Amino acid sequence: MPRQSPPAGPGEPDWAAAVAAVRGLGPESRVLLICHVNPDGDALGSMLGFGLGLRRLGVRQLQATFPGPPEVPEPFRWLPGLELLVPATGAYRDPDLVVCFDAASESRLGELAGRLAVPGPVLVLDHHASNTGFGDVQLVDPAAAATSVVAEELLARLDVPLDAEIAACLYVALTTDTGSFRFDATTPAVHQLAARLLATGIRPGDISREVFDTRPFGAVRLFGEVLGRARLEPPAAAGNGLVWTYATQDDLARHGQRPYVLEALIDSVRCTAEADVACVLKQVGPGEWAVSLRSKGAVDVSRVATALGGGGHRFAAGFTGRGDADAVVDRIRAELDSALVTS
Ligand code: 5GP
Ligand code: MN
Repeated sequence: MPRQSPPAGPGEPDWAAAVAAVRGLGPESRVLLICHVNPDGDALGSMLGFGLGLRRLGVRQLQATFPGPPEVPEPFRWLPGLELLVPATGAYRDPDLVVCFDAASESRLGELAGRLAVPGPVLVLDHHASNTGFGDVQLVDPAAAATSVVAEELLARLDVPLDAEIAACLYVALTTDTGSFRFDATTPAVHQLAARLLATGIRPGDISREVFDTRPFGAVRLFGEVLGRARLEPPAAAGNGLVWTYATQDDLARHGQRPYVLEALIDSVRCTAEADVACVLKQVGPGEWAVSLRSKGAVDVSRVATALGGGGHRFAAGFTGRGDADAVVDRIRAELDSALVTS
């Protein structure tokens, strides 16, 4: 069950416990880094950036992994630290320390959830208000714009200096989760962190082009088709409006595209002026959809997603939908009214 009130953020005892867990590692200790299924820029960037930091501390036996197929989405295939990645099936069975990134609940860890019952402590770095409090040490800060904000603070407390490789990873995480510094979570502290990262010499133009602005032509054509079938429902969410579309596995196959290209689709849909809530259904199997929800503020989409078995943030959330697309949207529509933000 999600906790009722958001966690307040890590306190000094939590930071001290996390630092002690890392400082207590011996030369032969094995460390396993994990992040959520279908990893995004924050999951991969915070995990690999932190992993490179552990390398700098002399941790030699170090693996990073995520559940599902061991495929890194194309926009992230240049990230420093990719050499730390192993398929989930090959990950350490009894690590001395597990560090988990950007996962609000064990369900987001797929088959790796079973790996949390290990001899070593489980450290959880996250920024979801819906975090369930799993693991032994929680560094969960719902006020943080990205998990990488938490990761950078832990690295600083471990006296690991930022270098260009670590910074590139953390910068990817920060820009993806803040929508390139557009969302309200973009506080002065976020820009101060960005300044520290840029001071290492990383090139933001090159990084943004790789991560946000490079797609195969087939993805452009696919977007045209999928956006062309978007539907606008002004009466939904008590008149605040819903816009939605869907993309099937057949759509991907026809255009010769990998699923990752669909991650950017929600950004094209959510700019619809006439709708507070935007939704994209991405087919992941027969009658199974990865659903992305976005809000402009009238609806708390994390409540919608949580009611339907998922989670996320107030303005961005998701869940796995089952059945045909219309049935999934019916269920979303039915949850919108009770997720209206009243205050
Ligand atoms: P996205 O739409 O970009 O995949 O996800 C938006 C937000 O919703 C992210 O913060 C992500 O953690 C959360 N989210 C997406 N899908 C799921 C899901 O199936 N379960 C849970 N618990 N959270 C999800
Ligand atoms: Mn995140």
